[in-house]
Amino acid sequence: MTHPSNVFYRSRQPSPTAVRGEGVYLFDAGGRRYLDGSSGALVANVGHGRAEVGEAMARQARELPFVHGSQFTSPVLEEYAARLVRFLGLPDYRFWAVSGGSEANESAIKLARQYHVERGEPGRYRVVTRVPSYHGASLGALAASGMGARRALYAPLMNEAAWPKMPRPDPTLGGEDDAERLRAVLEEAGPETVAAFIAEPVVGASDAALAPNPGYHARVAEICREYGVLFIADEVMSGMGRCGTPLAVRLGGEVTPDIVVLGKGLAAGYAPLAGLAASGEVYDTVMNGSGAFKHGFTYAGHPVSVAAGLSVLHIVEREGLVECARVRGERLLAGLRELQAKHPGVLEARGHGLLLGLVLGDPATGRAFETPGIAARVAAAALRRGLITYPGSGAVDGTRGDHLLLGPPLTVTDGEVIEMLEALDGALGEVG
Ligand code: PMP
Repeated sequence: MTHPSNVFYRSRQPSPTAVRGEGVYLFDAGGRRYLDGSSGALVANVGHGRAEVGEAMARQARELPFVHGSQFTSPVLEEYAARLVRFLGLPDYRFWAVSGGSEANESAIKLARQYHVERGEPGRYRVVTRVPSYHGASLGALAASGMGARRALYAPLMNEAAWPKMPRPDPTLGGEDDAERLRAVLEEAGPETVAAFIAEPVVGASDAALAPNPGYHARVAEICREYGVLFIADEVMSGMGRCGTPLAVRLGGEVTPDIVVLGKGLAAGYAPLAGLAASGEVYDTVMNGSGAFKHGFTYAGHPVSVAAGLSVLHIVEREGLVECARVRGERLLAGLRELQAKHPGVLEARGHGLLLGLVLGDPATGRAFETPGIAARVAAAALRRGLITYPGSGAVDGTRGDHLLLGPPLTVTDGEVIEMLEALDGALGEVG
């Protein structure tokens, strides 16, 4: 054993021990304070240590901790689904609750396939996805993902031919022209074989908060409709207000995807909760066809998780956190752009609301490093200064480069934004 413990750690490096959270801060076993500048992978939207969420969960655990979703619904799930779709601006949608983003994307892909079977089009099984992208760790969601490094150790993935690939958004193109590239992918795949197109409206861990230009998603939705393909927006990271709007897919214009996938911010880390919102048309097609979505997980719609989600949604609405994300996000992005001007190793600062990314590279050439590693070094230097960031690789062309994702809780104050920028400035200066 590399170190004495019964915990199966994710890597050879033992993980530091976090013992307490309060607001945007986490505290380790030695009492040291860290500003959680990544919300634990863009999850902790309402901040840490909110007693009212814990109390709502405890009440639910006392009253009705568990029902199996194939046998019962529950008052908390009914109330949550109604409030959630209102918050999202998807009033006639149906919410399906699961425990994590990977499960939610698996559910969305299976629902899209079943939708076409119910319509007498069983040949539509493929799902167009983008490179790079991340849709989850389970074998199906990973096969859907365009993320080379995470795929290589687990080959063969599920039927590679089932996932035709669309290039990443190109910010040098107008949004509509950029989206038009989907048409060529569909034509080449044979649209009669395609069930859905899935994309992250603001790309998360695989592409450092990259977003297409306005008009992209509306045109994507039009093309999908034209070809009879469902449009799935994977808003696991970008949704629930993180990008300064309830749904990031609407940042560049009005659009209504057929299925929206949510996770992370739904219960803000207080409980495992993710899910999908499906349009009335998708839902009715299944219910008027064979009459059931023949899919489920033991913990689908878990009342304690849903109670956490409901409490989090109350907080988000009561405290106006969507607007906070927009306003504080603008300040943080402006500060990151100042850091870009000061540190030649910062090639780009980008993103929306509090889903922001720094693309890092070689200060001598202003280009990406061929070997990743710089982001991890900057993240380690930031951590020494008490700031948690989320480092990753592959931000320049989807295969090369390094990046840091930044996304503090939506409750972050102006003073805490400055604290983040000062720590980052020091870390970037140290790593050079
Ligand atoms: N989709 C996106 C866009 C994500 O960012 C993630 C997680 N990083 C997932 C899906 C998978 O979610 P989970 O880790 O909860 O299974």
